[in-house]
Amino acid sequence: MEDISKKLEYKKTNGWENKDINKDTINEHNKSYMEFLSNYKTERQAVSYCIDSLKGKGFTEKTGNNFFITHKEKNVGIVRMPNNCDLTKGVNIIVSHLDCPRLDLKPNPLYEDTDLAYLKTHYYGGIKKYQWVSRALAIHGVIYNKEGQRIDISIGEDENDPVFFIADLLPHLSSKVQEDKKIKDAITGEQLNLLVGNIPYIPDEEEKDKKSSVKLNILKLLNEKYGITEEDFTTAEIEIVPAGKARELGFDRSMIGAYGHDDRVCSYNALQAIINAKNYDKPIVVWLVDKEEIGSDGNTGAKSAFIKQIIKQAFINLGEKPDAINIDECLFNSLAISGDVTGAYDPDWKEVFESRNSAKIGYGVSMEKYGGSRGKSGSSDANAEYVTKLRLLLNKNNIVWQTGELGKVDEGGGGTVAKYLAEYGMEIVDMGTPVLAMHSPMECCSKLDIYMTYKAYKLFLEKA
Ligand code: MN
Ligand code: MN
Repeated sequence: MEDISKKLEYKKTNGWENKDINKDTINEHNKSYMEFLSNYKTERQAVSYCIDSLKGKGFTEKTGNNFFITHKEKNVGIVRMPNNCDLTKGVNIIVSHLDCPRLDLKPNPLYEDTDLAYLKTHYYGGIKKYQWVSRALAIHGVIYNKEGQRIDISIGEDENDPVFFIADLLPHLSSKVQEDKKIKDAITGEQLNLLVGNIPYIPDEEEKDKKSSVKLNILKLLNEKYGITEEDFTTAEIEIVPAGKARELGFDRSMIGAYGHDDRVCSYNALQAIINAKNYDKPIVVWLVDKEEIGSDGNTGAKSAFIKQIIKQAFINLGEKPDAINIDECLFNSLAISGDVTGAYDPDWKEVFESRNSAKIGYGVSMEKYGGSRGKSGSSDANAEYVTKLRLLLNKNNIVWQTGELGKVDEGGGGTVAKYLAEYGMEIVDMGTPVLAMHSPMECCSKLDIYMTYKAYKLFLEKA
């Protein structure tokens, strides 16, 4: 007898139940991803990883059919073109972001109070401030000295490095000043001060009029090691991130706990997808952007004109003359995935999720037709024809996938870069990996979902 339920009902199950899953392949893929997460924590570092990977696979900068192009060390566009392709018919493009929520140093960060030296920070992106206190933090960034020479700084990742931290108040004294406050006020932005030292510089005999100074000792140490002075901070880009490596999570090691899944997970998988893509008959593009976490503004964000530079370079490499019309034509006719993570259903916070429509950990890569908030506001809402095309493609190729929507209606919401790319007229939909504890110092993703994100992206580039 016909199983009418199987024929008519749409049921999703835990992806690990799927008999075709190869756990070894999944683990191998995730091992490399964890190395990437552990060793490349800023957008500049992530771009350098991309460049090294691409060069290692025979891609060339700005030339040839397999090329990459970078911008300000914070963007990378990767293009592969079959011979005799017609760019004006559009490309298949995945756009993901490399920036992550973090703390940045202020231009005048260093000060001393009660013999403790601190660095003042200004947070970047949507963080819950209380999550950043009393934990090991690392410093990464670029700083230019008085001669304009660049110094790259990375302290706190090696186990022999010192780490830094922001002190929370002890519970013994926090009942009045902290515990009755709203959680968003429990730690303020101006309390996110990084503790960096306690030993004072002691003036010698001839400097009798001077006082001992912890701040001065820190500057002395920094000058000895990096040749920098206090003024150099004013123009530096220094990011404070959780120290330490990505870790397997759970007795069954089914998940990865790490800083930066949002959106390194989609960026990494998009990079691997375009590197490993085969038999694509259209030009394929991956664009990894910066500034998504602060609204995609700036000349390295998804609203910038760099996408046109990528397409312009593609025309040049094909020996064709790029102009405003054919670049627009290419973008207008393109198919796109906005590769970004989504908040996974959290059983401890059922009240904010709608279980039928939330992406779940372990249920595969998630496709979100729309995002936004309060009635899809600020969302590009993909077309039925396009999401159907992708759905059929995913099903035909046994990709474990699900639909996702960020929380209950009117509960909150969020946006991605999809709407900025949609302005060019291309078809675009969000597709990415579900994350638990998104935007926290330790986010959690399923290894299966991560691998399925890779599979889905590769399939999209090759066959969409
Ligand atoms: Mn994101
Ligand atoms: Mn985000």
